[in-house]
Amino acid sequence: QPEDPRAAKIPRYVRVNSLLWTAEEARQSFISRGFSPSSSEAITSQEFAQDHHVPDLFLFAPQTQFHEDAAYKAGKLILQDKASCFPAVVLSPPVSEDGAVIDATAAPGNKTSHLSALMRNKGKLFAFERDHKRFSTLQNMLQKAGCRNVEAINADFLSVSPEDKKYGAVTHILLDPSCSGSGIVNRLDYLLDPADRQSENDSEGVEMERLHKLATFQLSMIKHAMKFPGVVKIVYSTCSVHATENERVVCQALKSQEAQTAHYTLAPREAILRDWPRRGIPEEMDDREQALSVIRCRPGDDATNGFFVACFIKASQPDSRDV
Ligand code: SAM
Repeated sequence: QPEDPRAAKIPRYVRVNSLLWTAEEARQSFISRGFSPSSSEAITSQEFAQDHHVPDLFLFAPQTQFHEDAAYKAGKLILQDKASCFPAVVLSPPVSEDGAVIDATAAPGNKTSHLSALMRNKGKLFAFERDHKRFSTLQNMLQKAGCRNVEAINADFLSVSPEDKKYGAVTHILLDPSCSGSGIVNRLDYLLDPADRQSENDSEGVEMERLHKLATFQLSMIKHAMKFPGVVKIVYSTCSVHATENERVVCQALKSQEAQTAHYTLAPREAILRDWPRRGIPEEMDDREQALSVIRCRPGDDATNGFFVACFIKASQPDSRDV
């Protein structure tokens, strides 16, 4: 398949795994390998830069290869698109021995390892993955990345009882469910999900039906997460460009019985990457304010793949920490 021209606008992003390495150690290593810090926006093939939105994230020219790199093989560097780093940053998980977090849809584990790093290996991170094969990929990744606070569980998140005492201390949930994958123009870092397949050959009707099925599933996952009594913050993300899976799912979730019962609302703009300019599509939401409270990334144009992030908080627990 010929490469999507938008992929050429996306740098090679490399996240330093702070459980095993520091950003400064990574910088020195890049320099010792002949790369120099870039002094401008444009990065040549021999340069690198540090990202402005995601701590510990570095940018290289798009064609830079890291798959044979020793630090990558050792789990010190994680190849992860910038937009896909947003959910863990927005969730801003607790950093304490009694902190407890769920990653409801974890494999291959990029966001799980990111959360574990932000938690500094403290507390407990329950990582669910229902697919057996992908679960084993997840386990390998977590081991390689030195994530010691993660309990990986090969189960369907929807089958987990919100009343189960095991998860009674959980306050934060990351929800990155299967989606159409329509935002991915640079497939290097994505392990395809069974649901996430190219649909160019589908007729419009078949495509619509598939999106509606995905949206129903995505909504059921959010509503399930909202039932966990101790949870105060849920981050929902997709790598889809379709409003059906993004703004419209969020609006339905906000109007659901589960959201009303638990008093969920959207986190305010300031709490969800305040400096990121591209927000939701107002026409697809109930009001403009709501659209400002969600994030979009347009494939290529934002130097990322296409992505969407929303953050639900319990109204009784406003969390307006800047991220
Ligand atoms: N968050 C992952 C990362 O950043 O590496 C990517 C997650 S991928 C988009 C969605 C994953 O959720 C797939 O591996 C899929 O098998 C899994 N999944 C889908 N439905 C699930 C469910 N009900 N319970 C647990 N896992 C599920």
